[in-house]
Amino acid sequence: MIVVMKKEANEEEIRQVKEKIEGEGLSPIEVPGETRVCINVSGKVADKEILRGIISSQPGVQDIKIISDPYKLASLEYQGKEKLKISRTINGEKVEVVFNGSEISMMAGPCAIESEEQIFKAAEYLSKLGVKVLRGGAYKPRSSPYDFQGLGKRGLEMAREAANTYRMLFVTEMLNVTTMDLVAEYADIIQIGARNCQNFDLLKAAGQTGKPVLLKRGWAMEIKELLLSAEYILSMQRKKQVILCLRGIRTFENGDSRNTVDLGSIPILLQKTWLPVIFDPSHSTGRKELIPPVSHMALVGGTNGFLIETHPNPEKALVDGQQSLNLSEFELLYEELKTLAELKGKQLN
Ligand code: PEP
Ligand code: MN
Repeated sequence: MIVVMKKEANEEEIRQVKEKIEGEGLSPIEVPGETRVCINVSGKVADKEILRGIISSQPGVQDIKIISDPYKLASLEYQGKEKLKISRTINGEKVEVVFNGSEISMMAGPCAIESEEQIFKAAEYLSKLGVKVLRGGAYKPRSSPYDFQGLGKRGLEMAREAANTYRMLFVTEMLNVTTMDLVAEYADIIQIGARNCQNFDLLKAAGQTGKPVLLKRGWAMEIKELLLSAEYILSMQRKKQVILCLRGIRTFENGDSRNTVDLGSIPILLQKTWLPVIFDPSHSTGRKELIPPVSHMALVGGTNGFLIETHPNPEKALVDGQQSLNLSEFELLYEELKTLAELKGKQLN
């Protein structure tokens, strides 16, 4: 159950509602919002209708939502399909990307930011096609400590500069709380990667930055767990802005595909949550030749967007070159996806 307070509810009214909830042997958890506070009622409610009666008469209460899912804020019952708009003003001009509704949003760029030349080339090409979000990691989570770990702050600076030059938004991974403020300063969207998707302190920290968060599904994570991880972020965000990303899961498959593509999760998630759901074909498959067919399938299956690794010279890439399209391969796929989107009455941006 979630108690939605009126916009003008004061601290005393909020305190009184919390006291009433505690008086019923339950725990109130205050959730900040952009314009109003919500109070999440946690604990076993014996009779929801009786509780509704007790709380709804309290001063300052706007509405009471009974949500059966354990993830309250991420649930479709919390709010219907809202459009999520993310924007930045670059040189006086607003650059905006929209998720949900009839819009499908593309995010593309290299796995890792490697040099000024590389990221500028990618940004120039992609922006000319109409891609509005540039991806690139400055802090890379690598299985081996001897592999390229990313350029750190220098990488963030290069990518921000490239994004500004070509009027793009920038999504990049936040690996830990230590670099949180730095990443939040440069990014328009903060990525939490598969390895950190249940690092609850990091999830809360990402929520506190106030930036939109792209949350990737872990390779051994249930759908419910993914939504509960999103809940950690949402419970800290005033403006609720979380995008879920499917990037493949681990199964008994071994070698032919880096991970198993979990496209069935798209329609399942779309039935459960109002959050946009996007698809990463690169980490899902690990092989560039599989990226076009699985992307086609994801689009037909209802994805709200894509995150695709694209590199000006994949053969020379320091990370994930085997699963990166070169720029002209990306262009071909982008055009195909545009056509498919139109067939579905949608628009790829
Ligand atoms: C990435 O996007 O480069 C990445 C490391 O992805 P994942 O967390 O899905 O492995
Ligand atoms: Mn990668």
